[in-house]
Amino acid sequence: MTQTDTILEPGRLFIGGEWRDAASGRSFETVNPSNGEVLTTVAEAGKDDVDAAVQAARSAFPAWAETDPRKRAKLLFRIADELEARKDELGRLEALDNGKPYRQARNIDVVDAAKAFRYYAGWADKIEGDVLPAPGAHLAYTRREPVGVCGAIIPWNYPLLMAAWKVAPALACGNTVVLKPAEQTPLTALELGRIIAEVGVPAGVVNILTGFGDPAGAAIVAHPDVDKIAFTGSTAVGKLIQREAAGTLKRISLELGGKSPNIVFADADMEAAVKGAATGILYNTGQACTAGSRLLLEASIHDEFMEKLKARVERMTPGDAFDDKTRLGPLVSQEQLDQVMGYVEKGKAEGAELVTGGDRANVNGGKGFFLSPTIFDRVTPEMTIAREEIFGPVLAVSTFEDMDDAVAQGNATEYGLAAAVWTRDVAKAHLAAHRLHAGTVWINTYHVMDTGAPFGGYKQSGYGRELGKNAIDLYTQVKTVWVNLG
Ligand code: ADP
Repeated sequence: MTQTDTILEPGRLFIGGEWRDAASGRSFETVNPSNGEVLTTVAEAGKDDVDAAVQAARSAFPAWAETDPRKRAKLLFRIADELEARKDELGRLEALDNGKPYRQARNIDVVDAAKAFRYYAGWADKIEGDVLPAPGAHLAYTRREPVGVCGAIIPWNYPLLMAAWKVAPALACGNTVVLKPAEQTPLTALELGRIIAEVGVPAGVVNILTGFGDPAGAAIVAHPDVDKIAFTGSTAVGKLIQREAAGTLKRISLELGGKSPNIVFADADMEAAVKGAATGILYNTGQACTAGSRLLLEASIHDEFMEKLKARVERMTPGDAFDDKTRLGPLVSQEQLDQVMGYVEKGKAEGAELVTGGDRANVNGGKGFFLSPTIFDRVTPEMTIAREEIFGPVLAVSTFEDMDDAVAQGNATEYGLAAAVWTRDVAKAHLAAHRLHAGTVWINTYHVMDTGAPFGGYKQSGYGRELGKNAIDLYTQVKTVWVNLG
């Protein structure tokens, strides 16, 4: 499988069932992170394009909301089938545009995106209201109605999967969508648009705008005819969106950053925990909001654990997304590489001990955005690398004395997306899981997710739960109907 098997045409905007150039005629380049080369250009949506897409979504909404849920389900099942049938091609596109290893893109991202469509297809005809206890001669019941036009703004770390997490439940519930993929990774969202059109989803139900956060994303957020924003991205932009959404009081759900603690007690299965610590920080080259970026080790096992972890991590050499041996791809962009390198420098300057990595890896003649997996030991709570989300393969290690100390350090962050605990003691594991302030806690594992399991943040990692039945709450609103029976 080589990347030249893919011929990339310039991407256009998908508005009202048609493929168009941006009203301004502008476009921008998208780059292959494995070698820094331009893959193709895509249209750059501006405010006029946002207006057109929102109008298309608004016009399509009443009929789509009224469509027999079983028909909606059927279309979502077909999208899932098509995603799976085209997983080679979609995996290749994702690997080219994002840099993640082709096998991971194909076997995990694309397959999970299909699962999301299948799962919410199953929900479409099971969204029920309640009959309520009512005083006197009354009947009272609730209906769950779609919210309306949903703006979905997504990041570059799991481009197709994040699109699926938002588009699938939105459509199942009868909403229409304006989707804006991240400017770094627009290509698979456009393929999703092609599939959506091919299977027969009516024009305007899903509109896809490639473009930048500002103006395209910002115009979606500010638009008075957009009823809801579903955002996944940085905490900084999440705050901006919350402020901006106040102008029209639209509903928002935010899945933001993390600085997740991965806590290893002395009684843990050490081999498994070492593997979990490496996967926790290195999966997706650390570009995961759930990355286990703070490793907290019980002091008594520190030396032995670090020896094993260093050896394991040093075997994880970065490589081209299309090299079969690659398990660790590049960072998504030069900008991201520079940002992560900046944190590495801060780590050194603030006195953390660099155990391994910290330098650019020489892959493809140094043209890609590769960084060697990096571990800092003896990290103290006030250091920048202990506090800020790095979004790269950079691990901050510190030690703790007992359960109280572990939980206190684990919770000493403004974030609260995920946490993990490694121990053979069942009671200790659950106790820690209950005491950690995070939307997901893993026990003796890391990064396990499923379409059926709700996902979202505590604290500044955002609010609203995607996936599972919880997403139905995000994409519906409850109406109470009173009937006078007297
Ligand atoms: P990252 O730092 O991981 O690139 P961002 O939060 O900047 O994450 O980007 C996530 C998504 O938010 C992208 O689709 C980006 O274009 C979009 N975005 C960035 N700035 C804004 C903004 N001001 N308003 C709306 N969307 C934005």
